[in-house]
Amino acid sequence: MGIKTPYVCEIAPDTYAINEFGLNAMFLCVGSERALLIDTGTGVCDLKAEVAKLTDKPYDVVLTHGHVDHAGGMGAFEKVYIHEKDVQMAKDITVERRKDYADTLGKMNGYNVYDYSTDMVKAWDSYPEFVLIDEGYVFELGDRSLEVFFAPGHTPGSITLLDRKNRIHFSGDACNGNTLCLGASITTLYHTAEKLKALEPYFDQDFNGHHGYAGVPSCLSQKKTVRDDVMEICRQILKGTANVTEQAFLGGTSKGANYGNARVVFNDKTPMIEEGEVPVEL
Ligand SMILES: [Zn+2]
Repeated sequence: MGIKTPYVCEIAPDTYAINEFGLNAMFLCVGSERALLIDTGTGVCDLKAEVAKLTDKPYDVVLTHGHVDHAGGMGAFEKVYIHEKDVQMAKDITVERRKDYADTLGKMNGYNVYDYSTDMVKAWDSYPEFVLIDEGYVFELGDRSLEVFFAPGHTPGSITLLDRKNRIHFSGDACNGNTLCLGASITTLYHTAEKLKALEPYFDQDFNGHHGYAGVPSCLSQKKTVRDDVMEICRQILKGTANVTEQAFLGGTSKGANYGNARVVFNDKTPMIEEGEVPVEL
């Protein structure tokens, strides 16, 4: 029992959130000429069929980063756009890893809300073609466009997308209420949050890749303070004043610190600063 299909919510005109059983949220932006699918989920649902219900326009597929819950469904598509620093991560995704992730989130109350099982996760026959994108790349959809911003920290090659006309920012996992800093230094994450904060005049809504996480369905824009909160947490971690606590996470142990409405999660391998980086003013 539970919600049987991915649930779809029109979050703005011609803009849809497709939530895959609480595992992740994908977004479909439909323009006058083309559409853009942001992320492919874990590959539990038939995402192509879901998109076909929403648009008959040709569409491109972009991955905000190479994690299993965003790139795991890429095998259904012939071509995906991705930052080069996350390509290998996406290629390393196995069917076992996809099943593990789906099962872990299911046990985090997901199975009480959604009707899915790991049997729905099938191996892909081949990789899609990877088309490399970086800061400044623009997806032109006709009467709207989405601009790419490089936003490392969560992963080395994370990106976000800004729709200036509709004033919507799609932030992937780059900066949210539970930002995992596992792909770069705390200093890198700070600079990314600062950069995304500078975009605030250009968007009213900000959707991350985990709206409706695990067993809590939702498709609301995330809290406006999230970028400030993440910056403050990074500052406190760098200063050594953060109240760092340990937590069990996806089979291992991580550390994390909170401020405001956000938490930044990191581990012993997360550097404070890397060579060549501009230090944060503390
Ligand atoms: Zn991620």
